[in-house]
Amino acid sequence: MPVEVFDAIVVGAGQAGPALAARCAREGLRTAVIERHHFGGTCVNVGCVPTKTLVASARAVRQAHRGAEYGFDAGEIRVDMARVKARKERLVLQSRQGVEAWMRGLDHTEVITGEARFVAPPCAPICRASTMCRRWTTRR
Ligand SMILES: Cc1cc2nc3c(=O)[nH]c(=O)nc-3n(C[C@H](O)[C@H](O)[C@H](O)COP(=O)(O)OP(=O)(O)OC[C@H]3O[C@@H](n4cnc5c(N)ncnc54)[C@H](O)[C@@H]3O)c2cc1C
Repeated sequence: MPVEVFDAIVVGAGQAGPALAARCAREGLRTAVIERHHFGGTCVNVGCVPTKTLVASARAVRQAHRGAEYGFDAGEIRVDMARVKARKERLVLQSRQGVEAWMRGLDHTEVITGEARFVAPPCAPICRASTMCRRWTTRR
C-alpha cells in the first residue's frame, strides 16, 4: 500500500483538531485531518451545544412562568419535549455541518473520513473506513 506524505496529520475534528488544522493551514503546511465520526466531536454533538440548547429552552419556560412579575400573561405553558429535542437536533446538525464545511475549505488541507490508527513509529497513521484504506505519514 503506498504511503502519502503530509507535513501534519490531525486526528479528530472535535474542539482541538480544527484550531490546530487551521493553524497548520495558515503556516502553509500540507495537512490531513482524519475524523472517524461526527465533525465537532463531543462538544458539538453530545456535549456543550446540545446541553446548552436544552438549558436555553428550560430558561425560556422559566421566564414565561414568571410573566406576571415582568408584566405579561403567557397563558397556559406546556412544554413539548419533541419540539425541544427537534430544536436541539437542528442546532447540533447546523454546528456539525458548519465545522465540516469550514474544515473542508481550509487551504492545503485534506479532510478524510475514517478511523486513524498509528501502525508504526514515528508517525504512520492508517485510515480505516468502509470505502478506503490508505496510509499516511508526516515529513518530520
Ligand atoms: C455533557 C457535556 C457538556 C459539556 N459542556 C461543556 C461546556 O459547556 N463548555 C466546555 O468548555 N466544555 C464542555 N464539555 C467538554 C467538551 O466537550 C470537551 O472538553 C471537548 O469536546 C474536548 O475536545 P477534544 O477535541 O479534546 O475532544 P473531542 O471533542 O472528544 O473530539 C475528539 C474527536 O476525535 C475523533 N477521534 C478520536 N479518535 C479518532 C481516531 N482514531 N481516528 C479518527 N478520529 C478520531 C472523535 O470522533 C472526535 O470527533 C462538555 C462535555 C460534555 C460530555
